[in-house]
Amino acid sequence: MERVAINKKTDMKYFLILIIPIFLLSEGLVAGPQRPTSTNTKLPRIAIAGLSIESSTFSPALTNEEAFHARYGTSVFTLYPFLSADSPIRKRADWIPVLVGNALPGGAVTRQAYESLVSKTLDSLRKNGPYDGLVFDIHGAMSVVGLDDPEGDFISRIREVIGKKTIISTSMDLHGNVSWRLAENTDLITCYRMAPHEDAMQTRERAVENLLDRIESGKGKPAYKAWIAVPILLPGEKTSTRIEPGKSLYAQVAPAAAQPGIIDAAIWIGYAWADEPRNHAVVMVTGDDREKVKQTAEQLAQSFWKDRFDFAFVAPTATLEVCLDSALKSHKHPFFISDMGDNPTAGGAGDVTWTLKQILSRSEFKSATGPGLIYASIPGPELVENAIRAGVGGKVQGYAGAMVDARYAPPLMIAGTVESIQKGDPDAEVEVVVRVGSVHIIVTKKRKPYHKEIDFTRLGLDPRKTDIVVVKIGYLQPELYAMRADWIMALTPGGVDQNLESLKYKRIKRPMFPFDKDMKDPDLSAKLVPSSD
Ligand SMILES: [Zn+2]
Repeated sequence: MERVAINKKTDMKYFLILIIPIFLLSEGLVAGPQRPTSTNTKLPRIAIAGLSIESSTFSPALTNEEAFHARYGTSVFTLYPFLSADSPIRKRADWIPVLVGNALPGGAVTRQAYESLVSKTLDSLRKNGPYDGLVFDIHGAMSVVGLDDPEGDFISRIREVIGKKTIISTSMDLHGNVSWRLAENTDLITCYRMAPHEDAMQTRERAVENLLDRIESGKGKPAYKAWIAVPILLPGEKTSTRIEPGKSLYAQVAPAAAQPGIIDAAIWIGYAWADEPRNHAVVMVTGDDREKVKQTAEQLAQSFWKDRFDFAFVAPTATLEVCLDSALKSHKHPFFISDMGDNPTAGGAGDVTWTLKQILSRSEFKSATGPGLIYASIPGPELVENAIRAGVGGKVQGYAGAMVDARYAPPLMIAGTVESIQKGDPDAEVEVVVRVGSVHIIVTKKRKPYHKEIDFTRLGLDPRKTDIVVVKIGYLQPELYAMRADWIMALTPGGVDQNLESLKYKRIKRPMFPFDKDMKDPDLSAKLVPSSD
């Protein structure tokens, strides 16, 4: 349905684009085009497509097509506030939004889901071409069952459809991977410069601006793309840009990109929970000044390599037992504990029961008058159903968790009092709070990350007035970080275990820091990537 809508819309746009300027020019109402274009006065035709997910191959979970909540045609615009109907950028091109899908991080994407989403993208691109540009909006850490380098595969297949002349501008998460194939097929490329990703939308806008500038100025594809593989594989929890050395390293990126002769510069940390040759850090710089492009990329890569021993967890880490002991002894509240191993926003299944089981077995929390603890969260559709039947204030019991990842603990029997029932969350669908002793457990129908204060307050919970808040998360997202009185990250088991050295990698390139600590300095000279045409 939506694809038909795109065609009609595009046809209408063509009609208006052709007729209105002729009318206005003939009436002497405008003095010609407002922006210089290289070859004609028509607006450039720019497609938008992409798929985003971070998927752990160390998790037994699988991701299906529905998880991407794919948007088609004009509904894609709602993902980009800077492309709203009356925005200046919207007026600079004839946009052809194709398909953009964003999934919560999770396990590998099934081959069927991937092929279906890719085919829909390619079919629509085929029908609506030709294109002057394409915005490729991806995360960069998608794993697909039985397929290496999915983003490289996807962009190669897009190239086969749209041809070699179209300028592709790729926007990524700094936890994505940039294979040589992706670098070859894209023309412009950039990624976030902040972790947590407070600049996510700004980055997408920069990718679009860079593309528009190259098309409008007639400069076209960059003359040079430098690519450097940096043999480092670190988790995001050690590479936040809030603290050193990540802070100073990433502070070099914007000035590097602002130099004459450079279009953009970017550093990718890469994704640690997938096992492919492409999983490592990368630096890329694009521009027209050969020496500047190479030199800038080499400087950034050298800085990263020089800092490698200084990356450390963004907060103290400890076993769960030690974290709970510290939180119980502390006078600082709320005391946050990150349940890191099963962080659903890094690719954990989100339903590991190991941590909650340990908490419920502690004597301190057995009585309703014990120290208050919020646990966010555990999926348990059966328990949610039972809670709806029991109603708020009713007694409920049922199993929760370990439907996807039961490697560390089986489904957990939870018996307690229903404190709250909320329906309608796009991820969780239904959320209930069940109190067991002094523990308030958020149980969801489907898994959901808890990153914002409102995620708690809308359930009637007040994390600011709670002694201990345990969240399946890595580094705290900004709102939780701002409200914490203290914070420890628990080294818990799960699909995104932070103890990378315990993971059984077989296919990443070696030597690789930190696995091969004594490795020799690598060759960090810039490789010039051939142009896509
Ligand atoms: Zn990220």
